[in-house]
Amino acid sequence: MRSWPKVALPPIASTFAFPSLSVMNSSTRALVTLPEKKTYRMYVCGITPYDATHLGHAATYITFDLVHRYLLAAGKEVLFVENVTDIDDPLLERAKRDHLDWEDLAYSQIELFRGDMTDLHVLPPKDLIGAVESIPLVVQAIETMKSTGAVYPIDNDLYFSVRSDPDFGSRAHLSDEEMARISGQRGGDPDRAGKRDPLDALVWLAKRPDEPGWSSSLGEGRPGWHIECCAIAMNYLQPDPDEDFLVDIQGGGSDLLFPHHEMGAAQARILASKPYARAYMHSGMIGWRGEKMSKSLGNLVFLSKLVDQGHDPMAIRTALMYRNYADDHMWRVEDLEDATTLINNLRLLLSRPEVAPTHEIIQLMINAMANNLDTPSIFRALKDWCNVTESGAEGGSAGELSRALDLLLGIAL
Ligand code: ZN
Repeated sequence: MRSWPKVALPPIASTFAFPSLSVMNSSTRALVTLPEKKTYRMYVCGITPYDATHLGHAATYITFDLVHRYLLAAGKEVLFVENVTDIDDPLLERAKRDHLDWEDLAYSQIELFRGDMTDLHVLPPKDLIGAVESIPLVVQAIETMKSTGAVYPIDNDLYFSVRSDPDFGSRAHLSDEEMARISGQRGGDPDRAGKRDPLDALVWLAKRPDEPGWSSSLGEGRPGWHIECCAIAMNYLQPDPDEDFLVDIQGGGSDLLFPHHEMGAAQARILASKPYARAYMHSGMIGWRGEKMSKSLGNLVFLSKLVDQGHDPMAIRTALMYRNYADDHMWRVEDLEDATTLINNLRLLLSRPEVAPTHEIIQLMINAMANNLDTPSIFRALKDWCNVTESGAEGGSAGELSRALDLLLGIAL
């Protein structure tokens, strides 16, 4: 499907050194340094198009935008693919609740999401792929898994047998009991009769009355969620047969660690006989007034509402980068006010003919980004730089710092 508009990236002087990027890998619970190479592959799990785009979504897509920007700034090529789950139970349930046509709901929310990503200055993916348009790929993937015995039927539905991957559960570091509990909370059906293992995941749901279905060699139905991402990633990221992993980064919010990313990894292992991601990278949850921001709690803060209220999207983006991406974080109005002050201050100072030296702070920004996207230290340094400039220091290049803020942090002033 159509992505959102391209974003121009400003240049940076070749005198800056770009260390290899290290990120937190959830599957090893340690930092992994990406090897130096020409091309990186990143798959980020996108929205289910209802309730878009709350600040939890915004924080996640900013996180992976920072990875994207760093690698591009370092002169690398990034193959970046993101999906939109434009058919799934939660979408149908919301459409039914609100008496809307599910396709109209999905269309309007995807449009809103594109606008929100544009406001936040997020670089678009190479491919933004919907679940519906990827059904032929999903069917093909299920057929391949079926031929290996990793898929079995219950009634007319099809399930992925998680034990066909001997490493199942190893990426999430959870016990079987924990996995069963979480699976039940996150769209799984551990209690369904006929399953070989309670954790087995639905890959094809036979058409139900009053629900949409698509004809295929598997019968009329629709895809399960986990196999959708796996099939899209493997087809659109063009894994390199010479690499040890299919993709470099599998990204998403930390609520996708299990079951979604564990399932994707296990299914990809069956499909390609090699490990899926070099790093499973997760953005922390954003809370509001003491609770995790979630659809079920109804405490969502929407980006578009904040923008409608007159808040600067660059200040919202900045406030979300005050924390380290991996940390869970409570959204605070005070942080948005502080970020608004900082952005306004930077705009004023960077329009001065003389500013404090900039080369050192730009190299600091690069080094901090390479160190697991350490944005908090960058903002501390930027505030210090503002103070030094206000005190009359000279010798820097305002243009050079403006361009680096845009290139590395996505802050367009
Ligand atoms: Zn996904």
